[in-house]
Amino acid sequence: MSQKSVAVVGAGIAGLASAIRLANQGLDVHLFERNSYTGGKMTVYEQDGFRFDAGPSLFTLPELVDELFKLSGKNPRDYFNYTKHHTACRYYWSNGKSISLTVDQSENLHNIERVFGSKQARSAKEYFNHSKEKYELTAPYFLEKSLHRKSTFSNREVLKVIRKIPSLGIFRSLNALNGRYFESPELVQLFNRYATYNGSNPYRTPGIMQMINHLEHGIGTYLPIGGMHEIAKSLTKLAKEVGVNIHLNTPVNKVCVRDRRFHSLLINEEYIEFDSVLLNSDVHHTYAHLMEDKVPRPKRTLAQKPSTSALIFYWGIQQTFEQLDLHNIFFSKDYKQEFDSIESNDGFWLDPTIYVNISSKLEKNDAPEGCENWFVMVNVPPNTGQDWTVIREKTKASIIERLSHELKVNLEELIVTERVLDPVLIEKYTSSAGGALYGTSSDNQLSAFLRHPNKKLGQFSGLYFCGGSAHPGGGIPLCLHSAKLAADWCIEDLLKETKPRDVFESLKSV
Ligand SMILES: Cc1cc2nc3c(=O)[nH]c(=O)nc-3n(C[C@H](O)[C@H](O)[C@H](O)COP(=O)(O)OP(=O)(O)OC[C@H]3O[C@@H](n4cnc5c(N)ncnc54)[C@H](O)[C@@H]3O)c2cc1C
Repeated sequence: MSQKSVAVVGAGIAGLASAIRLANQGLDVHLFERNSYTGGKMTVYEQDGFRFDAGPSLFTLPELVDELFKLSGKNPRDYFNYTKHHTACRYYWSNGKSISLTVDQSENLHNIERVFGSKQARSAKEYFNHSKEKYELTAPYFLEKSLHRKSTFSNREVLKVIRKIPSLGIFRSLNALNGRYFESPELVQLFNRYATYNGSNPYRTPGIMQMINHLEHGIGTYLPIGGMHEIAKSLTKLAKEVGVNIHLNTPVNKVCVRDRRFHSLLINEEYIEFDSVLLNSDVHHTYAHLMEDKVPRPKRTLAQKPSTSALIFYWGIQQTFEQLDLHNIFFSKDYKQEFDSIESNDGFWLDPTIYVNISSKLEKNDAPEGCENWFVMVNVPPNTGQDWTVIREKTKASIIERLSHELKVNLEELIVTERVLDPVLIEKYTSSAGGALYGTSSDNQLSAFLRHPNKKLGQFSGLYFCGGSAHPGGGIPLCLHSAKLAADWCIEDLLKETKPRDVFESLKSV
């Protein structure tokens, strides 16, 4: 068989992962990236002796990254390593309460009992057990498989899961569900925060999101040695080694279709033909700017609410803080109002919940001696034309006031270097609609089914989708699942289109 060729548009984590999977099948893979670097949202800033991971900071399920090295016949540890971090997060409230939750659920129960009493600890035990049950029941089907293929539903096990849907908390919000377990408003707020792990609103997102508790505290959180960007860096190295042709500074301008089949990409005014294409670019961007008009738009998918975006301040701080850990949350006084404000697209809330990530707690080279690298993030709505210059300044003032008070310092005086990312810049650097961090939100019960399938359905062939805006959604682990689903579907279709003798030849070449 003449070697089949596949194009991948976008070198985000899912684009890299799918390109590696395709190249491992002996395909001629070309990965086109608009930027001068790979990784998309998972990039890095270096400034005045500080190193900042620009995007993701919380890393779960590292085995999904390892899997890519293993299937390429490599030892992951020769490329990429990570440590499990015991303290998953430290939480602070303005009433003076604080608690650390770790990756040891019995220690968490002990901490909850100490701060909130034994009744709340008993409820937490039940919560953790239910979270584990929900995760184990649903993840293998709703996250690791396509929801758009008959084969997923022809399995007896999945039918059992479907029968259990009413008990999974899908028909009540995460906030309502958490309120049934906990009397303490602080604990309700703490567990409501799981909604933000994919940019959703706890007062709307279904209670099934409770399962994130098991992912974070039951399975655990990790930090790659060298920082989050090592994931993108090591996958880029692997992609090159398995034969992926990476074309940086190469925006794709059009995805062209002929006779209901993907035909070519328009790049630098030239049409280049491939057998198939995997689109890692944001689905909104793809349909608005890349896809030819003759390809029907998935109206319901495109009408889904985008996930939240963020304002991020990268601060070099000339002091170290014993009381802070790798991940720290300073909760707002009124979470409901904070989310109402995000929902109304205001962009500014006087008392936002503040996330402070300090990788130099573990990675000493990330900040000069006696300093720390702070990644300070608040949730904001995606860009719809708000005045981000004003919002940035007002939000910065609120954050400085709150953290100065909590940490008993004049924080402003300690900032020696600064960089800021807002929704407009996130969209500019990654093409994500409105700067949404996670594609679409999970703010309704059908969200999981309304994300873009990993293949363009409806009698079109050769068009596949991966990344945060495709099934199963945003965040590193889900993007890696999407890469597997899209790449496997593409490979399966290419093999079906190949004559039996050619299949044999192509398998021999793997
Ligand atoms: C500030 C921030 C914090 C986050 N925190 C976490 C976290 O703690 N944990 C977690 O798991 N997730 C987190 N996320 C989400 C996570 O980063 C994303 O879900 C994931 O990285 C998205 O990967 P992706 O494969 O969808 O591609 P993206 O990273 O969105 O990259 C898409 C790529 O496609 C390229 N592209 C687009 N259009 C074209 C074109 N026409 N031609 C060529 N190239 C094109 C873009 O330039 C970009 O490089 C965070 C995100 C941000 C921004």
